[in-house]
Order: sequence, then structure tokens, then C-alpha cells
Amino acid sequence: MNAPATTQNTTVQLDRAEVSATFSIAARRSAQPLPSPALLRQRLPLSATLAERIHADRNAIRDVLDGHDPRLLVVVGPCSLHDPVCALEYAQRLAELAPQVEDQLLLVMRTYVEKPRTTVGWKGLLYDPQLDGSGDMAEGLRLSRRLMLDILDTGLPIASELLQPLATGYFDDLLGWAAIGARTSESQIHREMVSGLELPVGFKNGTDGGLGIACDAMRSAAHPHRHFGIDDLGHPALLETAGNSDTHLVLRGGHAGPNHDAASVAAARAALEKQGIAARIMVDCSHANSGKNPLRQPQVLHEVIEQRLAGDSSLRGVMLESHLFDGCQPLGDELRYGVSITDGCLGWSGTEQLLRDAAERLRSQQTPQRLSQLAQSQPTIR
Ligand code: PEP
Ligand code: MN
Repeated sequence: MNAPATTQNTTVQLDRAEVSATFSIAARRSAQPLPSPALLRQRLPLSATLAERIHADRNAIRDVLDGHDPRLLVVVGPCSLHDPVCALEYAQRLAELAPQVEDQLLLVMRTYVEKPRTTVGWKGLLYDPQLDGSGDMAEGLRLSRRLMLDILDTGLPIASELLQPLATGYFDDLLGWAAIGARTSESQIHREMVSGLELPVGFKNGTDGGLGIACDAMRSAAHPHRHFGIDDLGHPALLETAGNSDTHLVLRGGHAGPNHDAASVAAARAALEKQGIAARIMVDCSHANSGKNPLRQPQVLHEVIEQRLAGDSSLRGVMLESHLFDGCQPLGDELRYGVSITDGCLGWSGTEQLLRDAAERLRSQQTPQRLSQLAQSQPTIR
């Protein structure tokens, strides 16, 4: 079978069998074609109405991160999506809660379909939707985009970690916010990718707790780049980006422990300001900030809110890992409904109570003075 390939100015036909022989690599068992981002988007399109809403959601998220809107951004949801039915049930519950706390909290649901692994393990719905190691990524792409569209239909904005730059084009049009994880904030490839995105992005501190790589990442992503990638049709392409200054720091703790306490946040703020980067900080209440105990997240959130109420206006957002039920379970034959198969999560009843309490606590301290204090924008590198 002949496959088209592009050269600088022309399209030439290459014989797939001949090419495979030339590129034969012992450790690569096969190379199976996947649909292009354009084809998947055509099959599962984003309506004009929804596109407009996502645009508005991104602006609302930017306003909170920039300090123009005094609310707290809350990125909340499962560590990873593995069961579409349960993910939708979770989304419906969160969507019902969102308007009840929206005077204080802007809720965005975590819809994470790619998981970075320290060594090996299940890599997310995008890679292995059948959860059995069969790795049907064509189905993973379809199912992930389908599920994200269904979750958007509940009215919630959605968020995801962007791990594989080649996969970004399959769903970045749906996201209100994205994360670059602790294991990839240092990666030049991820910084280049972010420089071409039109959405707010949080860079996490490194797994060792170091802030330097996230600061460097924000500076790099704010600049235009020329880099390798694929175009919408899936062809290798030289991508030229404009630069993205809608980025911020996410404190997630590190090997030495948490970094959400007042002294660590003050140190982070000073490090950002020293480099002329706007002090927009999100605290991840999970991962190393909770010592990997998901039931500690309420305490972490409580401490963050108290710091905010004490006047730390750089704290603009929080992240929570939350599912229908507490904890996590190993991936096996008999999975319990609504329980995470990656990091442990806080269950729905605890999450709902926590978010209601957080909104109430913020509401009770709402004075005109605090509102104007929060509304003062910070210096920016834009
Ligand atoms: C996550 O958000 O689930 C995650 C993997 O985070 P981190 O990159 O901070 O480990
Ligand atoms: Mn996690």
C-alpha cells in the first residue's frame, strides 16, 4: 500500500513495505496508523456554541489567576478517568454543586486521560481504555474526546495534564486549563508545546520540590518557538508558536515534604518576583502536599484558605484529587465502582462538604477591603 508523505514542497508516494524494511528496528514491534487530530475532531466535533463557552471559561479562569476576579480557582476531580459512566456521574454531581459555590469558587473538573508513571503502570484512558494492557490508543483517543465532550455538556469547564505533545491536538480545543506535571516541567518539548497553546497552563514544581524548573518553564513558554511537531493532518511539521504568558506555578510538594505552608508560599512568591514573573500560585492539595494521604487534603485546603484570608493574594487556585469514593484500588479484574485506580482520592461526600465549607469560610470574611485588595493585579511578564 502506498502512503503519502510530504517533503518541503511536494507530496511524494512512498511504498510502505519498502519503508518498513529500511526503518526496521528490532525493538519496535509495529507501527500502526492512528487518525489525525483533524479527523478525530471532524468525527467528534466541537459545536460553535460550546467553542464560545470554552473561550469564555478560559477568560474567567484567566481573570481569577490574574487576580481580577477575587474568587478561588478549584481544579477538582479524579486523579485519572478510567470509567466513563462513573466520570459522568461525578461530573453531574460537581456541575450541580458549582452554581451553589460560584460566588467564591470557580470549579473546573479534572479530566485527566494521560498519566505520567515513575516507572511503569497504567498510562491512562488515552493509552489503554480497556484497562487490560491491550493499549488500543485509537479507541483511547475516541473515548477520551467523547467523554470530555459529554462532561463539557454538564456545563463544567475541564482540565487535563498534557503529557504527550503529539496527543495535544486531539483535545486541546476542549480544555479550559491544563497542567504540565512535575516530571515534565523541565522538558523543553513541553515548554515549546505550551508556547503554542491558547489556554492558561500551570507548571508544577519538580518532584524534588525545586521551583527553578517551573520558573524557567514559564519564561520559556512565554516566548515564541520554532519546533518539531505534527500538523492537524498528522504530518511532521515545523511549528511556529506565538508564546503563552498565561502560565503560573503549581506547588505540589516534593521529596522533602509539603510546600503549601506560609513560609514555602512566601519563598515561592519571592522566587517568582525576583524573575519578574507574576506571582500567581496554585496549591495542589494532593500528591506530596498531602503526603499521598488523600484524606489530608481538607487540612491542606484549610491552611491555604487561612493564608489567603490573612492577606496572601498570590494564592489564586487549588487542586484536589477527588472521586466518588475515598482512596484507591489496584488495577485488577474486580474493580470497585467510583474508586481511583491511580492516586488516592477524597470521596464525593467529603469533597462536597469541603467545597461548601471553603465557600462559606471565604464568604464570611468577604469585606469590601479584601475584595479591593484581591482585585489589585500583580506585575506581569506579558
Ligand atoms: C497528577 O496531577 O495526578 C500528577 C501526576 O501530578 P504530579 O505531576 O504533581 O505528580
Ligand atoms: Mn494524581
